Amino acid sequence: MSDAAVELVGLSKSFGPVTAVDHVDLRIEQGEFFSMLGPSGSGKTTVLRMVAGFEQPTSGRVHLGGTDVTDRPPFARDVNTVFQDYALFPHMDVLTNVEYGLRVKKVLRAERRERAMAALESVQLGPLAARRPTQLSGGQRQRVALARALVNRPQVLLLDEPLGALDLKLRRAMQLELKQIQREVGVTFVFVTHDQEEALTMSDRIAVFSDGRIEQVATPAELYERPATPFVAGFVGTSNLLDGDAARALLGRTGSFSIRPEKIHLDPDAAPGQRTARGTVSDVVYLGSVNHYLVALDAGPTVTVLRQNLHGTTDQAMARRGETVTVGWADEHVIDLSD
Ligand code: ATP
Repeated sequence: MSDAAVELVGLSKSFGPVTAVDHVDLRIEQGEFFSMLGPSGSGKTTVLRMVAGFEQPTSGRVHLGGTDVTDRPPFARDVNTVFQDYALFPHMDVLTNVEYGLRVKKVLRAERRERAMAALESVQLGPLAARRPTQLSGGQRQRVALARALVNRPQVLLLDEPLGALDLKLRRAMQLELKQIQREVGVTFVFVTHDQEEALTMSDRIAVFSDGRIEQVATPAELYERPATPFVAGFVGTSNLLDGDAARALLGRTGSFSIRPEKIHLDPDAAPGQRTARGTVSDVVYLGSVNHYLVALDAGPTVTVLRQNLHGTTDQAMARRGETVTVGWADEHVIDLSD
């Protein structure tokens, strides 16, 4: 096995009484697009800062490319960080911004220019090299920040919520673009986000964080299809959690279970051999291409049922608010979350 791009061994960090990161073990392979996903305060940024060297671990080790760098300062680590606020110099044009790191490293002018232009072209900003950052859109500024990090040819690029300042539409566009750039340059990306859709869209693998610990490391499809814990099932995608009395009544089992909304049917007659339950539609949420039906089951819990909206408007919804319905699902779609 080749050396991991990043390997964290028993990594912990406390700030006074607060344990921000709690014994994290993690291996990120060369060339991966790897995301750290979790709610605010779950420790993602602190892990990233320890990889960069901005923060010293309370205990544990950081390895980069097979070398223990725990005691090295940031500049002696082969990583670069892209921050959410980009940190561009407003008085310098785009090319000079991108060159800056090379100038600090005393790279000669001709090589500097050439490498900076190549980095700008890799993010499709070659034609804007002479502009000031203030003359760019948010998405373009984001790409300058990326070029400025890539110009150093780091082994690993750390990105801390780099798309957080962009509006939703631009953010979605940049997600695809960033993934494409990563594929082209082949650098290992370690990407921090609290947006599960963003992580699912971009990543080869994702580590889900909660309370300073990793709940699960898996591919996007595995996380969605086989969440390991109730936390992951609830945080990644929409989920119907069934436990206690509800699990006993609806599934005839004890433990914690999850069923995804698209795996529950409103028309169980269409799929015989399923388990069924009666309930009342408490709401219909129109979401454009799909509808969410909230169904309060007679057995207790309210479940969300997702159906594609093939008819265009809620007027043709499959069920209306207040209507009594029978929902159904197949046993094979019940995810067991009990450990
Ligand atoms: P966000 O998505 O909001 O950035 P996060 O998952 O990145 O959250 P961290 O920023 O790593 O979380 O914070 C983890 C915990 O450590 C939080 O409880 C936070 O308040 C605490 N923390 C982080 N930095 C410090 C610090 N310098 N001093 C004290 N507490 C800190």
